[in-house]
Amino acid sequence: MKEIKNNESDAEYEAKIRPTELASFSGQSKIVENLQVFIKAALMRGESLDHVLLHGPPGLGKTTLANIISHEMGSSLKVTSGPVLDKPGDLAGLLTNLQEGDVLFIDEIHRLSPIVEEYLYSAMEDYTIDIVLDKGASARSIQISLAPFTLIGATTRSGLLTSPLRARFGIQCHLEYYDAPTLKRIVKRSAAILGIGIAEEAALEIAMRSRGTPRIANSLLRRVRDFAMVKGDGFINLEITRFSLDALNIDSKGLNQMDNKILNTIIHKFKGGPVGLNTIATAVGEDAGTIEEVYEPFLIMQGFINRTPRGREVTAAAYAHLGIEKTVAAGTLFEFD
Ligand code: ADP
Repeated sequence: MKEIKNNESDAEYEAKIRPTELASFSGQSKIVENLQVFIKAALMRGESLDHVLLHGPPGLGKTTLANIISHEMGSSLKVTSGPVLDKPGDLAGLLTNLQEGDVLFIDEIHRLSPIVEEYLYSAMEDYTIDIVLDKGASARSIQISLAPFTLIGATTRSGLLTSPLRARFGIQCHLEYYDAPTLKRIVKRSAAILGIGIAEEAALEIAMRSRGTPRIANSLLRRVRDFAMVKGDGFINLEITRFSLDALNIDSKGLNQMDNKILNTIIHKFKGGPVGLNTIATAVGEDAGTIEEVYEPFLIMQGFINRTPRGREVTAAAYAHLGIEKTVAAGTLFEFD
């Protein structure tokens, strides 16, 4: 029997396939074109790039873009996240250690505490921070100058960002879900890097079932590769792909549990809609903003939900996908978990 070694951790897998240049970043063409111009202009002026806000659902490439920007600017990247920075001192420590042109990446920037956020304002605007020394009557504040740096903030919930913070980002990019041809390119690129043989139709099948999300596409590729190695000869063809994705319970359009729950709720509890966002949110037990910014854009892109002036409505395509007869469903109250 062949010896099997699992010597590839998640982090190593990620590191191998994460694009490091704009040229290998697929899709999001408008964002890529604009960033190319802004980066080139900043390099020509010998200045640091303006602060960048990246917003969009998880797994669409925000961290990847932050890496690419710092790489293209020839600078180093420091990574942190909103919930980690709970005291102004944590942020001050990070900021004062930045070298000229460095990129500071703050993931989940909407989760910064208000006091830390306020601290960030002067750092972003004029590269200074005020530090308070001592306590009580002898407390005094001194101003420290920082090296010019670029802040890249990433958020899945741009609606939760305060307007003063948002206004301080000179460059704002909204990442959209990817279409199947673009995801297919990403799957083929990852397979080539990892030395996995894959058929065109198999790459497209994975792409179509990845919920418009590169992170999901890459992780499905990894799972299908496992099936291909164990059940076949290691080559990923369409048959083994369908078999694996069905075994993993992956929806044929890539919908996840919450997507299905939202559609089923609108159909069964609200006769297919129109129904208001807050009502849906209460019924499915999810935050209205998350539904609006994370789930709904994909369902709209797939043509399963329409936004109407009177609320959200499911489409005939959604009934067909769920295998529900439209006439039967209307008016029926149906309980599910
Ligand atoms: P986010 O920070 O938005 O949650 P990431 O940047 O961590 O997402 O991306 C998740 C995965 O998808 C990474 O493995 C990355 O390599 C891959 N990826 C994301 N966007 C692209 C893209 N446009 N082209 C190729 N791979 C991508």
